This record gives sequence, C-alpha cells and structure tokens, in this order.
Amino acid sequence: MVNVKDPKNCCGCTACASICAHDAIEMKPDALGFLYPHVDMEKCIECGLCEKVCQFNSHYDTILNLSQPLAFAARHKDINEVMKSRSGASFVAVSDYILERGGIVYGAGYKDHFRVAHKRATTKEERDEFRGSKYVQSDMTGVFRLVKRDLQNGLTVLFSGTPCQTSGLKAYIGNTLSERLFLMDIVCQGVPAPIVWQDYITYLEKEYGSKVCYVNFRDKEKFGWKSHIETFRFEGSSRKKAFRNKHGRFTYTYLFNQHIELRHSCGVCPYTNLKRPSDITIADYWGWQRTDPNFNADNKGCSLVLFNTEKGLNLFETIKNQMNIIPATLPNIMQNHLSRPSEVHPKRMAFEKHYAKYGFVKTMRKFGLMGWRKIVSELHKRILKKLK
Ligand SMILES: Cc1cc2nc3c(=O)[nH]c(=O)nc-3n(C[C@H](O)[C@H](O)[C@H](O)COP(=O)(O)OP(=O)(O)OC[C@H]3O[C@@H](n4cnc5c(N)ncnc54)[C@H](O)[C@@H]3O)c2cc1C
Ligand code: SF4
Ligand code: SF4
Ligand code: SF4
Repeated sequence: MVNVKDPKNCCGCTACASICAHDAIEMKPDALGFLYPHVDMEKCIECGLCEKVCQFNSHYDTILNLSQPLAFAARHKDINEVMKSRSGASFVAVSDYILERGGIVYGAGYKDHFRVAHKRATTKEERDEFRGSKYVQSDMTGVFRLVKRDLQNGLTVLFSGTPCQTSGLKAYIGNTLSERLFLMDIVCQGVPAPIVWQDYITYLEKEYGSKVCYVNFRDKEKFGWKSHIETFRFEGSSRKKAFRNKHGRFTYTYLFNQHIELRHSCGVCPYTNLKRPSDITIADYWGWQRTDPNFNADNKGCSLVLFNTEKGLNLFETIKNQMNIIPATLPNIMQNHLSRPSEVHPKRMAFEKHYAKYGFVKTMRKFGLMGWRKIVSELHKRILKKLK
C-alpha cells in the first residue's frame, strides 16, 4: 500500500485515496496544511491499487501525446473576458465550449472563507469563480470521484488544474472512461501552503479590524498583466486595497516568490517540461514579443497555449474563432518552469518546524519577512545596490 516516507515524493493529488474501494486512505494535513495519504491498516486489504495509480514520477502517461506540442500565443477576442482572467482567457474559451454543450467544468475556486478548493461547475456563472491564479494548493478531496461519476453518467468533463493533478486524475480514471474527459493543465512553478494563506487572511483582518470580502492574488485590472500586486477588499469599504512590500511589512506575493512555503514535491516536480500530462496546457506567455511585438502591447494579458494531444487539437479547432491566435516556435516559448523545477528555499524545512511550534507572526519575524529583521535586510540590499 502507499507509504509516503519522504514528503517530496507525494504531490497530494488524491488518486490513491480515490481509488481505494475500502476507503482505507484518508488525506491528512501536515503542519502547513498540505495533505498526505494515511492508510488505516484495519481497513486495508493490501490490493496494491493505490501504489499502482500513483503517477508522481518521471514515467507518467504521455502515450497519446503528439511528438511535440503545438504552441500558440493566444488571446480571447472579447477584451472583457481577457480582463477578468489571469492571462488571455484561454481557459474561458475552452470551458465556454464545454458548458454550452451540457458538459461539466472543474477548476480551482473557493470554499468557506477563501480556502482554495477544486469545485464542479455546470454554468458559466459557477465557472467564473475558477478564473484567476490562486497561489495556494487547492484541496482535491472527493473531486476525482465526482469526475468519475460524471463520466459514468455520459457527461463530457473539462478538468483544469496543476499538471500533478491532471496526471493523477488521468491515472485514476483509466482508459475506458477517458474519451469524454478533457484535461487542461497550467505551467506550474509550485503551490504554497494552505495554512499560511488562511493565517495571512486572519492577520490582515486583525490589522485592519475588518473581514476580508474579496481577494485577488494578482490584480491585472488595476496594475496590468505584467506586474504582480495583490489586492483585497474589506467589509464596509467599496475600495480595493493594494499591498506592496514595505519596510517592516511583507506581502503574500513576496512570501510566494521566496519559495519558502512551497509543497516539498514542487522542488523535484517531474512535470516542469514539454512532456505534458494533459490535452492542453495554458500559461502566461512571457516573451510574447518574440512571436509578435504587437500582440500584447497594451499589457492586458497573453496566454501561451500548448496542444499536446490530437484530442486537445480537435477541441482547439472548435474554439479558435473565439481567439486571436498566432503560431509560436518551441524555442520562443521556453520559460523556467518548462525546463526545471523551482528551487525551494534552503530554510524550507526550518520554516515548517518553526511554524508548527510558534505560528504565523513569530515565524514571519524569525525568517526576516516581517519586523526589524526585514527592515535591516532591505536597507542592506539598498546600500549594496547603491554601491554597485
Ligand atoms: C500555483 C500556480 C502557479 C503558476 N505558475 C506559472 C508559471 O510558472 N508560469 C506561467 O506562465 N504561469 C503560471 N501560472 C499561471 C497560469 O499560467 C495561468 O493560470 C494561466 O495562464 C491561465 O490563464 P487564463 O487566462 O487562460 O485562465 P483563467 O481564466 O485566469 O483561469 C485560471 C485557471 O487556472 C486554474 N487555477 C487557478 N488557481 C489554481 C490552483 N491553485 N490550482 C490549480 N489550478 C488553478 C483554474 O482552475 C483555471 O483553469 C501559475 C498559476 C498557478 C495557480
Ligand atoms: S502523489 Fe497522489 S497518488 Fe501518489 S501518494 Fe501522493 S496523493 Fe497518493
Ligand atoms: S492497498 Fe488496496 S486496500 Fe490497501 S489502502 Fe491501498 S488501495 Fe486501499
Ligand atoms: S510544481 Fe509540480 S508538484 Fe508542485 S504543484 Fe506544480 S505540478 Fe504539482
């Protein structure tokens, strides 16, 4: 049976827990809220299915892939759609097509108080919650079984998520039901910790004396596609508040970019390449100028879309009238997370241990993310820059 000895070897996809017919596997959180499988030996009959389904290794299934992906710069023709999505609204164009034909769309939305979780949508209104990047690992509990039930009921399903999630789902669903399943992954630099995100919200609410009622991890409407600035709205105010790094204060964005709270598996991710485990891959098209210097001149957003299978390509044929699309060459689209996993912060483990013992605020102070240590380190950086 599945036995995660080193947390690096598990991405938390839930395929093992979903396939166990004896419900012997429960996904339980670690100190930062990342879920890992735990087997109840009283229920386990040692059939080995959970081990077999695990795809978090370099031998994941790409048997139906084209010899290499076909790459495009893409942007939805409707600028309102572009402005509501993270990059060029490619996800919206594809999911519109599925929903308009009675299909189901799965993606990352919110449950409870901005806890990031995968959800099922049958309408465009429900789907709209999945727009925008949420820089937190989304909770997949129970979702793979819902997808299977939809497929068994003859429905068409589009599942969007990280490549480790699509890869796990593909293995769990198997070949017989896969005909009506469309997989769409994102180019992925890694996922931050659910508990740190929840604690960050609580910290902001204490600081501002009001409940958060809106979040945007990367507000392009206000600041443009290229910048990375988070905004929040608090109850009782109609104005969005933007947070930037300041002396003695830190932002969630800063924390994300430090890679100090990424899932351990993200540092050894086997999916950071062009061998994609999905029919379609979407990403921010960094370096779009190399394909066409005018395509994103207004900085409103530009998708990179990779078609990895015949099935993905056929779906593309049906939606290409909704999009402005230009073919791109593979050398022109390469970015860090298509060639290697993120480098996890050297103090990642120490961060987790300290967090488990002392919680959010003390850990932020200890690791120089907040308070006098941060002020000193920023002054130091400024002096070095001036000297240079
Ligand atoms: C954790 C994370 C890491 C990323 N890393 C990179 C990167 O290294 N390089 C890069 O070019 N782009 C990265 N992206 C951005 C990603 O490329 C964009 O989400 C993508 O371009 C979609 O743009 P869109 O306008 O078509 O979709 P939108 O309409 O904005 O839809 C967003 C899509 O992303 C999915 N999604 C959002 N948050 C999550 C989540 N937490 N887990 C799983 N799926 C999620 C939704 O289900 C939906 O399909 C990352 C996004 C996330 C969430
Ligand atoms: S990677 Fe997925 S299938 Fe493998 S052990 Fe972790 S949760 Fe289970
Ligand atoms: S070995 Fe079989 S019964 Fe035991 S946990 Fe894995 S899938 Fe369940
Ligand atoms: S970096 Fe890899 S392991 Fe981490 S969330 Fe993304 S796809 Fe999964």
